[in-house]
Amino acid sequence: MHDTTRTREPWGEADKAAWRARQQLRRSYRELVLDRMQALAANFNVQQTGNLSYDPSRYPLFLIRSHDWSAARPTVLLTGGVHGYETSGVLGALQFMERDAQDYLGRVNLACVPCVSPWGFETINRWNPLTLDPNRCFYADSPAEECAALMQTVASLATPLLVHMDLHETTDTDNTVFRPDRAARPKFTQSIPGWRA
Ligand SMILES: [Zn+2]
Repeated sequence: MHDTTRTREPWGEADKAAWRARQQLRRSYRELVLDRMQALAANFNVQQTGNLSYDPSRYPLFLIRSHDWSAARPTVLLTGGVHGYETSGVLGALQFMERDAQDYLGRVNLACVPCVSPWGFETINRWNPLTLDPNRCFYADSPAEECAALMQTVASLATPLLVHMDLHETTDTDNTVFRPDRAARPKFTQSIPGWRA
């Protein structure tokens, strides 16, 4: 295996491929997310908006929307799993839609994408398979297709957002998994000036 810890130059394709080869599927997007989204179709409009090219059938992308969408009401967007390993955001967004969202219907339009980075969710990773941090990739012509897909979905709402709640957490594995990976990667400068950590 290529030893990325000895690399003192920015990762090349071989380094990225070596990192990706070490990643394993550890949980099921279908069982833990898609099945719950499909169940929400009893009360919401659940529509497929695309998929990820890494594995299109494994990673379909869905938007959950309130039925009675109205231009007269403010719109609230709830997203989770931009960092797929931040599990509480994914499960929290689903739980909110299942348990609490009904309380807000009629007052706001509600849109929810609970798991923006499903490969990261399944492999419990901050990065996507291309070793990109999705939370640094929300800009035009994004190299992260998770971000391009979400931006396209938001644009399709064709309405201003009053509130966007993007659910993150600090995980126990930040110190044991993610930071060592990042530290093994010198001159990693995937950041946007002024963007939050
Ligand atoms: Zn995060």
